[in-house]
Amino acid sequence: MEDRPGKLVVISGPSGVGKTTLLRRLLADLPTLMPSVSATTRPPRAGECDGIDYHFIPLDEFERRRAVGEFLECCQVYGRQHWYGTLVAEVAPRLAAGKWVVLEIDVEGTLSILARYPQAITIFVEPAHPDQLLERLKARGTESPDAMARRLEVARRELHEAHRYKHRVVNENVELALAEIERVLAAEGFHHTAVSHAPSPTR
Ligand code: 5GP
Repeated sequence: MEDRPGKLVVISGPSGVGKTTLLRRLLADLPTLMPSVSATTRPPRAGECDGIDYHFIPLDEFERRRAVGEFLECCQVYGRQHWYGTLVAEVAPRLAAGKWVVLEIDVEGTLSILARYPQAITIFVEPAHPDQLLERLKARGTESPDAMARRLEVARRELHEAHRYKHRVVNENVELALAEIERVLAAEGFHHTAVSHAPSPTR
């Protein structure tokens, strides 16, 4: 039974900065940190799983759920092409149960979250060099040249919003960036319950 209140952690950063890898590693390192799975109208990329990477839903369903207040925040990202949103059901029950919940959302979504949860711990992941974003997006190879240009344009705008975040972490190297995020969480009061990887004794 948790005796400490839960907290909301918001991680943002421009497309191509390596947030997804960092978040995956963070969740593996800190298994008591709960991810919030966002809903989106964007189609899944190869290898993405419904309910794990996102709840992939059609636009009419997104609009219906938005109208009945199922989203804590939602917005259209990348030239109003696709909707993305944080579901109340992914966050509120876990916070109420004393869990720490991590959201990986864009800057606009973060501002909406801060309006409702001013005490949210906000972390902005920045590239070490601006060229890093284009290189990563090219290497990922999941976007058309048009989509890549849109992402870079949004990235440029997002980098100007970094000052709105309480913490800023440069991702030049995954290990160092990960250690820095874990240090931030510890300083904010996150208590990591160690999970034993030792085999359980057999009787
Ligand atoms: P991607 O299409 O690369 O998975 O994500 C595109 C962008 O949408 C990223 O910047 C990501 O942070 C943002 N995003 C993902 N889920 C949400 C969400 O629930 N709300 C908001 N506002 N942005 C989101």
